[in-house]
Amino acid sequence: MTIEQYNFSGKKAIVRVDFNTPLDENGHITDDTRIRGALPTLKKILNDGGAIILMSHMGKPKGKVNAKYSLSQIVDAVSEALGVKVQFAPDCAKAQDQAAALKQGEVLMLENLRFYPEEEGKPVGIEKDDPKYDEAKKEMKQRQKEFAKTLASYADCYVNDAFGTAHRKHASTAVVADYFDNDNKMLGLLMEKEVEAVNNVLNNIKRPFTAIMGGSKVSTKIGIIENLMTKVDNLIICGGMTYTFMKAQGGKIGQSLCEDEQLGLALDILAKAKANGVNLVLCSDSVVADRFANDAETMVCPSNDIPDNMMGMDIGPDSRKKFAELIEEAKTILWNGPAGVFEFDNFAHGSNAIAHAIARATAKGAYSLIGGGDSVACINKLNLADQVSYISTGGGALLEAIEGKVLPGIAAIKGE
Ligand code: AMP
Repeated sequence: MTIEQYNFSGKKAIVRVDFNTPLDENGHITDDTRIRGALPTLKKILNDGGAIILMSHMGKPKGKVNAKYSLSQIVDAVSEALGVKVQFAPDCAKAQDQAAALKQGEVLMLENLRFYPEEEGKPVGIEKDDPKYDEAKKEMKQRQKEFAKTLASYADCYVNDAFGTAHRKHASTAVVADYFDNDNKMLGLLMEKEVEAVNNVLNNIKRPFTAIMGGSKVSTKIGIIENLMTKVDNLIICGGMTYTFMKAQGGKIGQSLCEDEQLGLALDILAKAKANGVNLVLCSDSVVADRFANDAETMVCPSNDIPDNMMGMDIGPDSRKKFAELIEEAKTILWNGPAGVFEFDNFAHGSNAIAHAIARATAKGAYSLIGGGDSVACINKLNLADQVSYISTGGGALLEAIEGKVLPGIAAIKGE
């Protein structure tokens, strides 16, 4: 079932949203992107004449009630965004009466699901090496099913619009779907957009396809790099990862970030790229610094010949130019991870050059997907968000999807 096909008139929908919004010390929302992201789905349900039961997690309360993570803090903001006074259920597992009383056009928000350990389904107070761990895990899985069944009992249909947690097999993201038949469970509109975005870079590729992988460590990106190896034409590798590749090939990297235990892996990646006919491009020159600080002394040098007392902090001017050219020729673009220590303005030039090149390519008709944390922050900082095709809302979930993994939250609905 798709949400567009479904008529919510007279139905109660339980909707898993990602309202894990950042709050300041006074409990005020500092970024409402996630609330705004869910609005199309919620408005579709209300416009059809349905009622909504909202469920989400916030923070990591680890299975215990903790006022700091109470979703009551965002009820007013959600009411304002939706234009409907949202009711609140202070115990998500005891909301039967409030759910039953809900009328068409009304919205009820459940308290933080993670106040119950059943949501995540991990046994509490027992270590993995305890002989009784397996038994405790089995018992918790059973309790998780009961918890999911309770949530399901509130509604006629289930909508999952929380891409940020789609890679988790939690009660509200996956298990709850077992209690609805195929005609009464569906992805939300935000989730559909995320799935389409991933599909555009993994299956529906317009060539040339250029992926830009940056960030700090190759070890955390290896799954993605391997999966992309059979898909991309150009693979640009930049950021802190660069220096593991340089050292693996015998280069001098000074004090640059390096994962010595991954040198073999770096050589494997280079060999695989060659075997697959992928144009793997590393940054040939770097902006290096004498300290990890914005006001450090800097110079530009070859990325494989860095003075002993210096460290690579950003891609150099030649690399900026070369990367921008490749990006501008591309028809499909994926960017994950900054090209340098972009948090310091003096080392953000590489990431800026990449972001602007992506915006120019997009204006010429390329499909561009930006995702996975820091590259999103970079695009937003440059006010280029509306000049790229899609910015993913899911950090870990997007990365796992691009690794080619099946996400439990999607599989639970689509049965894949
Ligand atoms: P990741 O979470 O792996 O995408 O890494 C993002 C982080 O990588 C950011 O905080 C950047 O500051 C950092 N980073 C990028 N380039 C470098 C570099 N050359 N040296 C050290 N850290 C870097």
